[in-house]
Amino acid sequence: MAYPKPLERLIRAFERFPGVGRRTAERLAFHVLRDRESTELADAIGEAIRGTTRCSVCCNVSEGDPCAICSDPERESDRLLVVEGPRDVEAVERSGAWHGRYHVLMGALNPADGTQERHLAVGELVRRVRSGGVREVLLATDPDAEGEATALFVLESLDHAGAKVRVSRLARGLPAGSALEYLHRGVLEDAIEGRVTLRDGETG
Ligand SMILES: [Zn+2]
Repeated sequence: MAYPKPLERLIRAFERFPGVGRRTAERLAFHVLRDRESTELADAIGEAIRGTTRCSVCCNVSEGDPCAICSDPERESDRLLVVEGPRDVEAVERSGAWHGRYHVLMGALNPADGTQERHLAVGELVRRVRSGGVREVLLATDPDAEGEATALFVLESLDHAGAKVRVSRLARGLPAGSALEYLHRGVLEDAIEGRVTLRDGETG
């Protein structure tokens, strides 16, 4: 027996969430319907979409454009930490180990989930660097296969554009396959402090 159309639509919407299969999507949909009076979820989704935007400078999700970090004159604007997603920014901010600004790629190269070069905000980064005022780009993608491939792609893109900028990478020795957002504050601090230079800005 088929579900009513509106219910099927809700199930399909949940199925598009990362890591959610058909059965979980059904459970979530029935959970929503059980509390029929509550429009909290629908309101929260609508407000999250309407109330946020992408920062046109660093590409992070933010309430305003430019975001709070990009418009903070106290942050060093000549050093950019390049991360995969907004949760990485949160993790690094919590560690207090970075006083520069960010660039958020919004993903990592991943053949399994279909994320390709064109989905990442690398072109925006190259333009940002080429427009001047940036001395260092610190690649802080996750220490896993996708993160390494992404870091290499960013490095090649900067090279290809002839960007004269120092490019560095987080210190080696991070737990392989881990995600930046789950690293302990001290580990993150050490990785940033002990970063390795991949390209000297002068030879760029
Ligand atoms: Zn920003």
